[in-house]
Amino acid sequence: MDFYHQFDTLLSAEERAHVARARQFCTGAFSEGVLAAHTSGKALPEKWIAAWAATGMLGLQAKRAHGGHEASYLCKIRVAQEMARHGFAAAFCLNHHQGGVTRISQTGTPTQIERFLAPALRGELLFTIAMSEPGGGSDASAMTTTAKPVEDGWNLKGAKAWLTDGLIVGGLIVLAKVTDSSNPGEIASFYVPLDHAESVRRNEILVPGARSFRLAEIAFDDHFVPGWCLIALPGAALKASMSSVNAARVHVAAMCIATLQAALSEAVAYCGNRNAFGKALTGHQGLRWELAEVSVRLEAANALVFRAAEQIQQGTNPVSLAAQAKKFAVDTAIWGIDQCIRIVGATGASATHRLNMHLAEVRMAAYADGTNEMLLDRIGRGLSSDYPTPTTERA
Ligand SMILES: Cc1cc2nc3c(=O)[nH]c(=O)nc-3n(C[C@H](O)[C@H](O)[C@H](O)COP(=O)(O)OP(=O)(O)OC[C@H]3O[C@@H](n4cnc5c(N)ncnc54)[C@H](O)[C@@H]3O)c2cc1C
Repeated sequence: MDFYHQFDTLLSAEERAHVARARQFCTGAFSEGVLAAHTSGKALPEKWIAAWAATGMLGLQAKRAHGGHEASYLCKIRVAQEMARHGFAAAFCLNHHQGGVTRISQTGTPTQIERFLAPALRGELLFTIAMSEPGGGSDASAMTTTAKPVEDGWNLKGAKAWLTDGLIVGGLIVLAKVTDSSNPGEIASFYVPLDHAESVRRNEILVPGARSFRLAEIAFDDHFVPGWCLIALPGAALKASMSSVNAARVHVAAMCIATLQAALSEAVAYCGNRNAFGKALTGHQGLRWELAEVSVRLEAANALVFRAAEQIQQGTNPVSLAAQAKKFAVDTAIWGIDQCIRIVGATGASATHRLNMHLAEVRMAAYADGTNEMLLDRIGRGLSSDYPTPTTERA
């Protein structure tokens, strides 16, 4: 049975076709391009963003009236997994942009839709969420970026950090503290077109082996944001952003699972074809058991991710389960890929090997959408209601 069977049986025929299209797109030249970029220490060429957009995938969950497909959450996960099997960073970034398009289509005002949607669907105008700051990301309420009301809009001051595709995005979804007297310190959010303005400065944040995230810090020095760009009113932005965090966590977890599944498959194939002491490496029980151990934890992580994803698809908001799924999937993927690198021998240590790219990129999943400590904190707070004693649980 296919590893992704559980997910795929819940998809419509149209959604299964999206997954098949994603699989076809990612196999071959795209996959080679992802590895070649890693090997040369560069980011994945931007032409692949345009090519992905041309397949209609950025509009996967946008409204049909806007040219989208209105696909389900499980379909979005499966499409992302198909890409994550070839490269985690590419999948993370392109699905981040798909989320931006979905947001504009589903919740944008008529003006925002008119100005942003078509170029966003074509991959020409990329948006990323800008919440984290150089001073910290976990405690969003401590952010220092400010938005001061001015005539016809807002004046933005401050800096955001660790922005996905921050080197190339044309716009940001910025959360900032409003400084007017009626809502002092309340957090609002805005679409912020960057427009190559002089009031915007970008600097790359270099991460070893994972430049395809194109991480950047972006600072604003009195940057003007038109009034029609407001997304969430002062006081409502943090809650609105956090409402989708559980879905985002499970999404990241599902991509980690797919990358580990690809790494294990690669290690199994390699060890089946390489000989030592007169037989294939997989003919040696000690090594076979090590691969088997990776498969055990992969399957356990996949079952947990599926359980969480199914609940999100059904419309519940599984706070603890989403945190558990992300923590376990990330930890399992980092551990499992590292095992695969070691198991295949010295070749796995080569900088040009795909397993090394997988490890460098999946490591970054440990920070985005909640660090392990923040996830454990979430889980810990729900323990007594999530795990009642047999005598106190509700019938
Ligand atoms: C690949 C990647 C993509 C990203 N994309 C984006 C993006 O597009 N937009 C964006 O806004 N941000 C993005 N981020 C930033 C990410 O959200 C932050 O890294 C994350 O929120 C943690 O913030 P921090 O790194 O500043 O760590 P800090 O908040 O400074 O925390 C430092 C350490 O302290 C721990 N800690 C903090 N508080 C507690 C506590 N109460 N109890 C115990 N331990 C605690 C943390 O777990 C961490 O280990 C991205 C990060 C990465 C790596």
